[in-house]
Amino acid sequence: LSTLRQKVRVTSSSPTGLAALALFAALLTLAIVGPPIWSGIGGRIDTLHAYAGPSIHAWLGRDQLGRDVFARTMSATRLSLELSGAATLIAVLIGIPAGAAGGILGRRFRNAMARLIRLALAMPGILVALFLVSIIGRGSFGATVAIGVALAPLFARTAQTLTASIADSDFLAAARVIGVSRRRLFFRYLIPNTAEPLLLLIGVGSSLALAAISALSFLGLGVQSPQYDWGRILNDGLVAVYTTPSAAIAPGVAITVAGLTFSLFAETFARALNPRSRAGPGGAARRQALAAGSANGSSDQKPARHLPDQCVVAVENLHVAFRRGRDQLEAVAGVNIELAAGEIVGLVGESGSGKSLTALAIAGLAPQGSEVSADRLEFKGQDLRGLSGRARRRLLATNLAFVFQDPMSSLNPSMRVGRQLTEKVEVHLGMRRRAALELAESRLSQTHVPAARRRLSQYPSEYSGGMRQRAMIAMGLMTDPALIIADEPTTALDVTVQAQVLRLLREINQRSGTTVLLISHDLAVISEVCSRVIVMYAGRIVEVLPVDQLDRAAHPYSQALLGTVIDLDTQRAKPLVTIPGKPPGLATVRRGCPFASRCSEAMAQCAEEDPDLVPVPWAEVEHRVACWARVSGGNLAGAAAE
Ligand code: SF4
Repeated sequence: LSTLRQKVRVTSSSPTGLAALALFAALLTLAIVGPPIWSGIGGRIDTLHAYAGPSIHAWLGRDQLGRDVFARTMSATRLSLELSGAATLIAVLIGIPAGAAGGILGRRFRNAMARLIRLALAMPGILVALFLVSIIGRGSFGATVAIGVALAPLFARTAQTLTASIADSDFLAAARVIGVSRRRLFFRYLIPNTAEPLLLLIGVGSSLALAAISALSFLGLGVQSPQYDWGRILNDGLVAVYTTPSAAIAPGVAITVAGLTFSLFAETFARALNPRSRAGPGGAARRQALAAGSANGSSDQKPARHLPDQCVVAVENLHVAFRRGRDQLEAVAGVNIELAAGEIVGLVGESGSGKSLTALAIAGLAPQGSEVSADRLEFKGQDLRGLSGRARRRLLATNLAFVFQDPMSSLNPSMRVGRQLTEKVEVHLGMRRRAALELAESRLSQTHVPAARRRLSQYPSEYSGGMRQRAMIAMGLMTDPALIIADEPTTALDVTVQAQVLRLLREINQRSGTTVLLISHDLAVISEVCSRVIVMYAGRIVEVLPVDQLDRAAHPYSQALLGTVIDLDTQRAKPLVTIPGKPPGLATVRRGCPFASRCSEAMAQCAEEDPDLVPVPWAEVEHRVACWARVSGGNLAGAAAE
């Protein structure tokens, strides 16, 4: 009730909103009181006064049977609104699920539905409606079903377009990481985030349905005598439009005003639904629940901390490929990664190097249409390849946190932050709401979100960019994960906030021993917090070395990346250093070292054979490189001498 009151308050806060509310309320009142007050008068036949003009007894004149047009118009409000509402409901129930389901189901389903919807839209709606009426039969029922079905493709197309933009969003991916069910994804993530434009469409659709049903009644295919709606009254009035024009104008005006009211009301109500226009920090009841939660929370439900020295991730020969026709395009080609508990490892490389795809494959989030294979794919000692989908989702949902690049799109804009934080522990650990809220508050505090209790009941739009990223990290911490994968978590933030987020990741690692895989294209970011760095190029790992050995990086690509790092000593007068050329595309047929076309040290062998990742013989620490010039020639000795 408080939410409804809040929406009404927001809706009525503008003159347009107030007008829409007043018109809608008037229509509803007429629909309720119209038939009992006016149906008797409107049905009374008085042939002596047929086609009589407006008078004190019949304000809008009389029709061919001498019936009062005003009384009939008022009385017909209920049936007209009922039929248009029912037709819109049919269109919504068929169209929106058909169009939106593609957002959570597979690409194949999405494509098949897109074709079907395009086909349905190619047929003129009014012809579809006439065809259906001829099958179902004339009358209110036939006309309503026909118009509902004819309007459904319009809803389906709009829902499909709207959800397609959300289907690949970070917050939906984050919800998949925490194992949110498809049903919940549909009702809590897809539909609320498309609610505003869908409500607008429902308003416009209702107007269209009203006009279409009136048109069918006007043609004698809709409402049948003795019932009457505005379309039938229009039909009756049109016979005498030159002598008693008011008899035709009255139902016409009613249809127009009702249609405008639907659109106007939907527009203002949709605006009120937008989280950005929602008022303040939430209700007192929620705050009380939070306070009670603080007092009663059961700490024994908190997940246990993981053991140190475990191997959290072990991946061997990981391949991620996309099929294009008969070709197999390899985006990740034979990657081996081991992450020990408590490590902070940096995964660095240019865009398209395969670093994010590698992480997504580990998290079970590889994009639809990709094919993932590996000789070994273990998470916390469990073989992910052998687990059922449900067991795998549960294991990853409770032990892995994914922090995405853009804090603006990582959180569901239509859900309060507290609800988003508690979802994972409620779903997977069966934690009670109050205890989950208490835990969420403590996690928000740990990530340095000020006034955490109040912030829980706010929407993401009320958070700053840095705070959203910290809330995202707090969401990951809810189950005390063994691994945090942070994919370019600071790219969209300014430098000050960037430093805070990096500091926070290091703090979490030191406090809880959580392993962190930090993905970045920026070696400066990696060197700030990581202990080890993995360099990727064209879907392969080309070098692995401790961060404190970065100045001894052996691979020409790593050296080139280091050369692009800007610091305070960088001379501003000189042009910025760039790596010439660009990485090979996925469709490029690969032979030899993929960096060869950009490498100043390339040899004949480089064009023929792809070098393996092997230990650098002169290194005293674990340092591996994939480069012919470093492992088979004098350059190695040169590098060692340096
Ligand atoms: S293998 Fe050859 S082309 Fe590749 S990085 Fe080493 S020297 Fe350059």
